[in-house]
Amino acid sequence: MPDFKIIIIGGGVVGLAIAHRLSKKHHHILLLEKHERWGMETSSRNSEVIHAGIYYRHGSLKAAFCVQGREELCVLCSQNNIPYRNITKIISAANETELTKLESIQQNAAHNGVKLEFLDKAATLKLEPNIRTFGSLYSPLTGVISVHGLMEYYYRTALAQGAMVHMRCEVVGIEKGQSDYEVMIDEEGTRSAITGEIIVNAAGLCSDTIAGMAGIDVDQAGYRLNYVKGSYFAVTSSKSKLLSRLVYPVPQNEGLGVHALLDWNGRLKFGPDVEYLQNRVQDYTVAETKRHIFGDAVRRILPAIADDDLTPDQSGIRPKLQKKGEPEKDFIIVHEKERGLSGFINLIGIESPGLTSSPAIARYIETLLI
Ligand SMILES: Cc1cc2nc3c(=O)[nH]c(=O)nc-3n(C[C@H](O)[C@H](O)[C@H](O)COP(=O)(O)OP(=O)(O)OC[C@H]3O[C@@H](n4cnc5c(N)ncnc54)[C@H](O)[C@@H]3O)c2cc1C
Repeated sequence: MPDFKIIIIGGGVVGLAIAHRLSKKHHHILLLEKHERWGMETSSRNSEVIHAGIYYRHGSLKAAFCVQGREELCVLCSQNNIPYRNITKIISAANETELTKLESIQQNAAHNGVKLEFLDKAATLKLEPNIRTFGSLYSPLTGVISVHGLMEYYYRTALAQGAMVHMRCEVVGIEKGQSDYEVMIDEEGTRSAITGEIIVNAAGLCSDTIAGMAGIDVDQAGYRLNYVKGSYFAVTSSKSKLLSRLVYPVPQNEGLGVHALLDWNGRLKFGPDVEYLQNRVQDYTVAETKRHIFGDAVRRILPAIADDDLTPDQSGIRPKLQKKGEPEKDFIIVHEKERGLSGFINLIGIESPGLTSSPAIARYIETLLI
């Protein structure tokens, strides 16, 4: 008899959402997190946007989970006092060429069931008088959420439903047994082993490493992650009232483009940029030297911002499956039965919109257990 029915590796927003969901029906669930507290990696280093589901390819897990997750998060937030605001968003065209691109964005969103309204220049300026624009798409469904509030809710509810959470507990090895898995753990230098019937790998930036521990050839499976840093700059408080909603540019290459965000303290921030890291060091410093490049990107949206108005702020690292220049890849969420790993579930490449998708991903994991 294994020690636990389900062992979840990783206490980010996704691992916590899964613990919250599965503990409604299952007993003997254990979540392992290597840091002293949950949510200290990507989950606390993002834009905190509840995405509507505009850009993701129709039929992808990203599109489906984002749309379902958004709906579910809004209900969850209002019923459980989790701070969120339906702040809305516009995608603004900075020139005539970009104006024509708005149409395909609108069509893609419509395929995903997301309605966007086209606003001409005058109508856009009525909403946001300080931006540079030729016209825009208005998304009434985009919001912002306190990701800490959400994680706290998932965590507390999971505990109340009987799940256990061990912090400062790093998974360092996995061995497949006859009908269970032996999970080797390191707790501040002390090593031991526990067994679980089902393993859910929600280890974010290390999810490919965990898959490797289970014996999967990560490169052959296409699970190797690229670390892609996104930095933010904050705008001086005297200019933070120049916008009243999220303003995004028309996406150029990778990422959604440096965009304007309003955080919980009413601070105006711009980011995240896209920087492929050469190695897998989790360095979250925001380089001062990026100020001018950021200034240029910011002025495409808000011309009144000078370089001196910008201060380096937070950064986060995306666990991306695609290498630089490759097309966007979908989330990988799979029960690895076909690799002979019955009961082992991998979640790899859970970049944006992972936060928005978290309740929908958790529901999906539940179906994979049947
Ligand atoms: C710059 C940026 C902006 C973003 N903006 C948005 C947004 O606005 N909206 C949105 O929906 N999404 C956004 N995202 C994406 C979102 O943040 C992620 O999809 C989400 O946080 C992923 O959660 P996770 O639980 O999978 O990963 P993580 O938060 O990384 O959690 C994984 C956990 O696993 C733990 N772990 C790793 N290895 C081990 C081990 N060996 N043993 C034990 N524990 C381990 C880690 O310590 C970590 O706590 C953004 C991401 C970035 C980087």
